[in-house]
Amino acid sequence: MNRDAMIRRATERNAPWDLVVIGGGATGAGVAVDAAVRGYEVLLLERGDFGSGTSSRSTKLVHGGVRYLRQGNISLVMEALRERGRLRRNAPHIVHDLEFVLPCYRRRDVFMYGIGLKAYDLLAGRHRFGRSVIVSKNEVVRRLPTIRTEGLRGGVVYHDGQFDDARLLLHLLMTATDHGACVLNYATVTGLTRSAAGAVNGVTVRDTESGVEFTASAKVVVNAAGPFCDEIRRMANPAAEPMLAASQGSHVVLDHSFLPGGSALLIPETPDGRVLFAIPWHGQTLVGTTDVAIPTAPVEPRATDAEIDFILETAGRYLTRQPRREDVLSTFAGIRPLVKAGGNTASMSRDHAMRVDIPGLVTMTGGKWTTYRSMAEGCVNKAAEMAGLPPRRCGTTELRLHGYSQAATDSLGIYGSDAIEIRRLIAADPSLGVPLHPALPYCGAEVVWAVRSEMARTVTDVLTRRTRVLHLNSRAALEMAPRVAELMARELGRDIEWIAGQVRAVR
Ligand SMILES: Cc1cc2nc3c(=O)[nH]c(=O)nc-3n(C[C@H](O)[C@H](O)[C@H](O)COP(=O)(O)OP(=O)(O)OC[C@H]3O[C@@H](n4cnc5c(N)ncnc54)[C@H](O)[C@@H]3O)c2cc1C
Repeated sequence: MNRDAMIRRATERNAPWDLVVIGGGATGAGVAVDAAVRGYEVLLLERGDFGSGTSSRSTKLVHGGVRYLRQGNISLVMEALRERGRLRRNAPHIVHDLEFVLPCYRRRDVFMYGIGLKAYDLLAGRHRFGRSVIVSKNEVVRRLPTIRTEGLRGGVVYHDGQFDDARLLLHLLMTATDHGACVLNYATVTGLTRSAAGAVNGVTVRDTESGVEFTASAKVVVNAAGPFCDEIRRMANPAAEPMLAASQGSHVVLDHSFLPGGSALLIPETPDGRVLFAIPWHGQTLVGTTDVAIPTAPVEPRATDAEIDFILETAGRYLTRQPRREDVLSTFAGIRPLVKAGGNTASMSRDHAMRVDIPGLVTMTGGKWTTYRSMAEGCVNKAAEMAGLPPRRCGTTELRLHGYSQAATDSLGIYGSDAIEIRRLIAADPSLGVPLHPALPYCGAEVVWAVRSEMARTVTDVLTRRTRVLHLNSRAALEMAPRVAELMARELGRDIEWIAGQVRAVR
């Protein structure tokens, strides 16, 4: 993917696109893939970097949702379990099976959760991952060596999927572009254009790098702006009632030693009635999440002190070592776009919603990463009908995503078949193979690849979403920033001032 080429395509086009998609998160990328695979001409616009919204800030689980099971939302769980299975089959280089252990401190919980998770297996049917089993206290401790053993009665082991959200997002966008889509980051939709009859028939866009404004006309516009989709709806109708309520979810990243066994820990009931996960992720331990209602969605949400303390304290009740503030390597927060009940929402399920406010504009929001594909299928069906496009069947259920590879090898395995290109860069210049930080596996070739092929534009893009350094270890990110900036400046033809500005921005 090359941004200059994308800009040229977007600005030089005279004919309307079949679809213009606003938002480069899981929802928008899914729609772009689905539409492009059906042969529709699609332009996707993202105002920041791809995935800079909620979609790089998730708990990284491809799951049916044990919590929804407890709430009795069976159809939602079944849909998510089906999509979980498809996603692992279509992107095995990014999605893998992870073993979870649910420790029980009351004997009745062992049976209650054991039965519940057996039901989870049954609902998954042929899309099942590993089998759920009830295990003894000793087995819990073998899998979770740092679990608090006082009062421990046993536990339940079950399986779900784990993934790297920002990497999957990039590979979705690359899948879309492999099928002809045009995708642009740092392209803000500033308004909607209307036909004489009042229907939405395009968008006005500002290229935030150059400041240049242009118009992209479309047969139908898809609003996939996540927590910001009410802003887009208000561009069409300033009186539009908000369809979303925002809730913040934060995570804390701790050292691997807090969860050394390779299995994840599920705490089934936190003091505020939620579940909390501690998960091994890229060599560290990811703990979260919270659920805090907030009045408006900020562009750059931050974990609050209260959330961090809550996570540390709750995790400490289950671990032999209480994690403290000084153990925190990084934190990150995301905003859940929660769909309000009622209104004229054409609900496809209780968890995500599609709404047509005015002709020409379809809003798709809510849901979860796991179900992005089925959401996209429904959205493109609707958009194609609204635009009068020739009906074509969805082609994504068995579609292998960009990078598809079953041969996960080293730290480059997550790039799938693109790893070969990164190795080629290292072969041509071995200095690019040297790790950029002693605590992390990332090397210079990944930075070069990110700029040349993944449209990384800033050091933060590379440290947060092409690699995951900023989410894994913020101190390491600061230390790596100058070297990453130098490598990027060489690729992008930037000067010393740009380098200094980028390092400041990371700080
Ligand atoms: C804390 C947390 C944990 C989660 N964990 C999981 C999990 O483990 N598994 C799971 O399946 N799901 C999980 N989810 C849910 C999942 O992350 C979201 O459902 C999904 O990422 C939403 O994607 P989206 O594309 O709708 O929104 P976003 O990712 O927010 O994308 C919307 C994009 O629109 C862009 N945009 C906004 N306005 C404009 C404009 N004017 N012009 C151009 N672009 C614009 C934004 O910059 C943004 O990038 C979690 C959510 C949260 C908050």
